[in-house]
Amino acid sequence: MEPFTPEFSCVQCRTPFLNEFPLDADGRCPLCREGLRGFDAAYSFGSYDGTLRKLIHIFKYERVRTMAAPLGTLLARAAPRGRAFDAVIAMPMHWYRRFERGFNQADLLAGHVARRLGAPVIAPMRRRWSPRQSGLTMSERKRMPAKAFDVRPGTVEGKRILLIDDVLTTGATAGACGRALKSAGAAHVSVLTVARADRRFGAAVIRSGVS
Ligand SMILES: [Zn+2]
Repeated sequence: MEPFTPEFSCVQCRTPFLNEFPLDADGRCPLCREGLRGFDAAYSFGSYDGTLRKLIHIFKYERVRTMAAPLGTLLARAAPRGRAFDAVIAMPMHWYRRFERGFNQADLLAGHVARRLGAPVIAPMRRRWSPRQSGLTMSERKRMPAKAFDVRPGTVEGKRILLIDDVLTTGATAGACGRALKSAGAAHVSVLTVARADRRFGAAVIRSGVS
């Protein structure tokens, strides 16, 4: 498995592009330039494809929890160097979805990353609403509101947050979560995922079935 190193990507959200044209002089994509992303930075280890995709599926859908250790190692490798975090937060799962799966994959990954970064894991938020992402169009996903997440008052004020999830697809869920954390006073929100969908060639739209 190779780290994801596209030739052209946004300096802030690291969305890959086929060429430099969507990027401005500072290297930012239109969503980041307009402040519509919802988070301040995004980092991922690899492309959501091939072996990495298979490993994530084994972890999530075949519920092999021990996969959290090797995937957590890849996550820690993708964490930004030289940036300090006050807290690590796992992307919350709606209680019913968690009940169905038996665990939240992001919780297990967050534990590994937090130990390596020496930052505490906190769980200040709850997910109120969680539509099935597969089958939603891009614009439907983008409408996901910040109120999809509840943040307990006084838990994230002034904190630099590292938000953990397994896969970043459109970034809509991470954006909604980031906006909720920012409204609750978080100083900075970075998103760290094991993999991210590469939509440059269109194929990821068909292959992706998760958020
Ligand atoms: Zn961007």
